[in-house]
Amino acid sequence: MKDSKDRLEALRAEIERRNPAQPEFHQAVREVLETLAPVFAARPEYADPAVALVERLTEPERQIVFRVPWQDDRGRVHVNRGYRVEFNSALGPYKGGLRFHPSVDIGVVKFLGFEQIFKNALTGLGIGGGKGGSDFDPRGRSDAEVMRFCQSFMTELHRHIGEHTDVPAGDIGVGGREIGYLFGQYRRITNRWEAGVLTGKGAGWGGSAIRPQATGYGSVLFAAEMLKVRGESLDGLSAVVSGSGNVALYTIEKLQQLGANPLTCSDSHGYVVDDKGIDLALLKQVKEVERGRVSEYAQRRGSSARYVSDGRIWDVPADVAFPSATQNELDGQDARTLISNGIKAVSEGANMPTTPQAVRLLQEAGVAFGPGKAANAGGVAVSALEMSQNAARIAWSAQRVEEELAGIMRSIHAVAYETAERYGTPGDYVAGANIAGFERVADAMLAQGVI
Ligand code: NDP
Repeated sequence: MKDSKDRLEALRAEIERRNPAQPEFHQAVREVLETLAPVFAARPEYADPAVALVERLTEPERQIVFRVPWQDDRGRVHVNRGYRVEFNSALGPYKGGLRFHPSVDIGVVKFLGFEQIFKNALTGLGIGGGKGGSDFDPRGRSDAEVMRFCQSFMTELHRHIGEHTDVPAGDIGVGGREIGYLFGQYRRITNRWEAGVLTGKGAGWGGSAIRPQATGYGSVLFAAEMLKVRGESLDGLSAVVSGSGNVALYTIEKLQQLGANPLTCSDSHGYVVDDKGIDLALLKQVKEVERGRVSEYAQRRGSSARYVSDGRIWDVPADVAFPSATQNELDGQDARTLISNGIKAVSEGANMPTTPQAVRLLQEAGVAFGPGKAANAGGVAVSALEMSQNAARIAWSAQRVEEELAGIMRSIHAVAYETAERYGTPGDYVAGANIAGFERVADAMLAQGVI
């Protein structure tokens, strides 16, 4: 075990040296490597330096960076940067979303792409890992500006993607509207109706039922599974949910369906606490229809809701927590607050929203902690089901897709739980998810030779 730890520590140092100024990527790699020592000890073929498995796994197969020029409504030209990191295709075509947000850089895309490899492996479906995006900020832009940006972005991206090669989807700042513009430009340039090239499409033109809901629904189902192991359920519990985008909205929806009471939502300016529980119809109207801010929800909701612009959402007492906005949004101090408020479970709807220190504190306090790789895998799982439907040129009913999603989330929970037990860390879903995902990818890579 000591040899395994030394080898992993040397690998980590070398990866950080070769990828300077990419803190989020370092964090994601460190978190996986820290859990692999028992696997290396049990399966020496994974650790054999002569095979360089981890060196290959942490180096993307391909990284594409490109210029995205576009014109605003006044005729002014802007230049953004586009990215697609095709990280690992041992299990299937690269699969992972596109993020449009000013904070996007190559390190952020690599962290997301690296996480995606293990998440996709955990679903048990045939999809590799990739991620992309741009530092473009769609907030405050007109539909016409977003369309011109998406068309310019796809004018370069189209030569790198395809239903058997690389299949992007949405992420922060990329929802149904953006996928529509991207798909239209792909179809125009290639003269192909290749539905399986993008997922998250509209219901009438190749999209899957339940795809918009899948990540949030899946995160709640994962929390329900964690509670079930402890003889508890979500029914009657209060919940703190961060974010107010795709993942947060459908986390709130599924919590309400299962009898829980979500009390909060947030955006990058502040958060709302609603003592009566979130009015989802009003929140969807503000966010999905008007593309407004959560402060507007509080103004219109009446006396039960208040808007807080300078506090921590995790100060709101609740039984379960669903960080569903962005990376590193829940830190050590927030974890201490949650623990002192008696939190039972934390399920990561977002990618890497909980800092390593916070994860450690929550686990030490016995809180059930579902890492994003497992808990938010429902979105990519239904994306893979969308690809299956596209390949067969059929559309499944919402009921069928939802049943498939529920089965996949149960199976991800089971494999993470059982793997953690098998390696002597019962209840540690971080280790369980990392190891189970790693084993599946590693075995495929070893079987396929030095690629
Ligand atoms: P959206 O763009 O729909 O929503 C993002 C939400 O998070 C918005 O409310 C946004 O507020 C808020 N937010 C973004 N940055 C910050 C910040 N720095 N501080 C506070 N709030 C912030 O994105 P999604 O809901 O799709 O994605 C949310 C998370 O879930 C991301 O981590 C994403 O990677 C992850 N995820 C998404 C999947 C999907 O299927 N969509 C699948 C798996 C994971 P504002 O409008 O002010 O920016």
